[in-house]
Amino acid sequence: MLILVVNTGSSSLKYQLINMDDGSVSAKGLCERIGIGGHIKHSASDGRVYEADRVMANHEQAMEAVIELLTGSEYGVISDPDEIDAIAHRVVQGAEVFPKPVVLDEEKIQRIYDLGEIAPLHNYAAAQGMWACRKCFGDKPMVAVFDTSFHQTMPDYAYMLGLPYKYYEKYAIRRYGAHGTSHKYVAERCAALMGRDISELRIVTCHLGNGSSITAVKGGKSVDTSMSFTPLGGVIMGTRTGDIDPMAIFRVMEKENKSPADMVRLCNKESGFLGLSGVSSDSRDLHSAAEDGNDRARLVLEEFRYQVKKYIGSYAAAMGGIDALVFTAGIGENDATCRAGVCEGLEFLGIKIDPAKNAVRGSEIDISAEGASVRTFIIPTNEELAIAKECAALVFGR
Ligand code: AMP
Repeated sequence: MLILVVNTGSSSLKYQLINMDDGSVSAKGLCERIGIGGHIKHSASDGRVYEADRVMANHEQAMEAVIELLTGSEYGVISDPDEIDAIAHRVVQGAEVFPKPVVLDEEKIQRIYDLGEIAPLHNYAAAQGMWACRKCFGDKPMVAVFDTSFHQTMPDYAYMLGLPYKYYEKYAIRRYGAHGTSHKYVAERCAALMGRDISELRIVTCHLGNGSSITAVKGGKSVDTSMSFTPLGGVIMGTRTGDIDPMAIFRVMEKENKSPADMVRLCNKESGFLGLSGVSSDSRDLHSAAEDGNDRARLVLEEFRYQVKKYIGSYAAAMGGIDALVFTAGIGENDATCRAGVCEGLEFLGIKIDPAKNAVRGSEIDISAEGASVRTFIIPTNEELAIAKECAALVFGR
């Protein structure tokens, strides 16, 4: 069975064609600069790579280009688009409307589009991607898998914000979280690696990448998570502020004569690692700059570790203890210094990692020190495979 996983951004379209018999990726790629030019990179599993500028006026033209590459004689991996059994779309915001993945029809796509009102940076683009696939693939089964679904189990006292209640009722403003597919995937892998039933475990999952979120997973369910109404909340990130006193925003608006739209851009694209350091949004660049004596790069790296550590402590408190800690995503999987810094000082919770085991990158491994009562793991995330599995379960019952 072949499932095409599609992840659409406002000017991008990422795809992976996954063979569900063994979970392998037959081909993957990225269309960028859609609507403002166009660039495609496509790789087949046997190493053939196509990369070129190609004008794509909209997501439909991008999808046509993807199908051409997937089926073409030079870089293709299938001979006919009909060999694809289903299409799975990643959607950032499902809100309370979509607590689970759904098989898409026109009404549901429209509903996802309408949720763009609370997730303008993501949902409009996701719906465009779905309409583009509908045009290219006709009635082939399509599924939407939401980043927010896993967090729908949070209790109300964890998801309600301290604004007047009427704004929750009128505008659905509350904590939704994100990266749910990743948190669920690594929590389930963690339980499997421990040989324990997930229903007995209290796990803190740290998805640390360009966007970062930390989740408390109790008995296999998300009970709290650091991202909030949008993926702007929580710890400082590559270009996002993380949690911030709203008065700080109002002060900048007032002093610099900025509009709400200016502030949305500033908080999402110009802040966090990039804005604080003035160096880069990429943690590797910050490490190099810090080694060269850049004190603001050092500050960002320390502040990030400190904030992640505080979340782990607070989620251990929220769950009445902690049995396992998981690191995943770009920083979580690759940055040993970050993991060590986060865990330092958490010995009082039973968290202690082995420096030799921690000196690895990107492999699934238990890095706990001998005698630690909490098991700490690095578990590479695989959101695309998790999304494809949800799709296969929903459409084909397996
Ligand atoms: P992601 O959003 O999951 O792709 O993660 C991107 C982040 O992971 C960027 O900040 C990268 O700098 C970081 N990253 C990737 N590889 C490494 C590495 N070897 N050491 C430190 N950070 C890394």
